[in-house]
Amino acid sequence: MKCDDPVAHGQYRCRCGIVPPHMLEAIIKNGDAEQRIAAAQTLHLTEQMRLERLSLVGEAGPAQAADETAGAAHKSRKIYTAANGTGLPGNLVRSEGQGASGDAEIDEAYNGLGATFDLYNNIFQRNSIDNAGMDLIGTTHYGVKYNNAFWNGSQMVFGDGDGKLFNRFTIAIDVMGHELTHGVTQYTAKLVYSNQSGALNESVSDVFGSMVKQYALGQTSAQADWLIGAGLLAAGVKGVALRSMKAPGTAYDDPVLGKDPQPDHMSKYVNTTSDNGGVHINSGIPNKAFYLTSIALGGNSWDRAGHIWYNTLLDTRLSASAQFQDFANLTVDNANKLYGATVGNAVVQAWQQVGINVAAIVSWQNNKAVLSTYTSPHSMNAWAYIQDNGWRKVQSLTPDGVTNTFALLVDAQSVNARVNVYLDGTTIYQAYSV
Ligand SMILES: [Zn+2]
Repeated sequence: MKCDDPVAHGQYRCRCGIVPPHMLEAIIKNGDAEQRIAAAQTLHLTEQMRLERLSLVGEAGPAQAADETAGAAHKSRKIYTAANGTGLPGNLVRSEGQGASGDAEIDEAYNGLGATFDLYNNIFQRNSIDNAGMDLIGTTHYGVKYNNAFWNGSQMVFGDGDGKLFNRFTIAIDVMGHELTHGVTQYTAKLVYSNQSGALNESVSDVFGSMVKQYALGQTSAQADWLIGAGLLAAGVKGVALRSMKAPGTAYDDPVLGKDPQPDHMSKYVNTTSDNGGVHINSGIPNKAFYLTSIALGGNSWDRAGHIWYNTLLDTRLSASAQFQDFANLTVDNANKLYGATVGNAVVQAWQQVGINVAAIVSWQNNKAVLSTYTSPHSMNAWAYIQDNGWRKVQSLTPDGVTNTFALLVDAQSVNARVNVYLDGTTIYQAYSV
């Protein structure tokens, strides 16, 4: 299954569902006749929707400007039913402020979209997905026994599930936070939905989806289960969720669904052409970095770790084609700016535990950047370059030969000079002088 045609259709837009292609393909391979038909229908409907979207004309990406024109918080939910058809959005069944409908799927969608709005608005001062108060639209009862939920570029869609492998898709609040966050990414970083930038796109959705759940339940990082889609797998399925941020690769191991393929470290990075280059697979690596950061900082995930990730998502230095290393570098820089060196170094440690090395500049004094002592996993040479009058090598570093720990001073001749630190040919840190 292809998620979307990135060239013809806005590279950052994704209409993939919460159930990744590798799970649907496993069902088609291993399931009984009924399960195979349902999985094939799910794949078919997703493809049909892709083609419908492709036929829309003039669908330019949303204006970035919307992000800068946030008005008063505007919470407006509209929940529809497709009545087991596939027309969108369907019939309106519950609008903002109206009482419960008595239909579990409709009411869970209403509550989940509300919880997502609340986290973004109360904690990150974000006024809905576009930061300009757009309506939150959800269509329930999509298709027949449809085993997926997705963000289609402008609204959410929920299937009922087949009841044998998956329960109704509104059952997991983090699934709604995940899908709506694809909308937030669409309006901000526009991370290209393939390979590492696509896995970052997926990971950001898991990070904020999990935070929506933790915030709604009032859980600290230590109390949270860090699962994505808990409750979604039907009784009898061998697994607890779709993914685990705490322990990627352990969420399920089932005769029909297969085994959770997520790696938890760069040494296990999965190179594949399926799933848009493993976007739902390698997202386990940055997912675990967020989990480790949250645990290290203590308290609630949204207290500090969430702000570090949110500021990184909005950071204009984060390119649409960002790699894990780029994202990691910016989280450390944002952590330093928001909370200082101790927190910055906690983020460095979190990334290092998943195999991504970042050095942290801890302070700038008289145009000298003081890098934290940096412990490398092996003996290496590092260089620092600075871009003020062109690129200039400012310092060579050699490890002490025992612990591979070193410190670095960088001289900057001007403000906003870019500093690149290279380690074994890879940029491990970028910063700008102040
Ligand atoms: Zn997703």
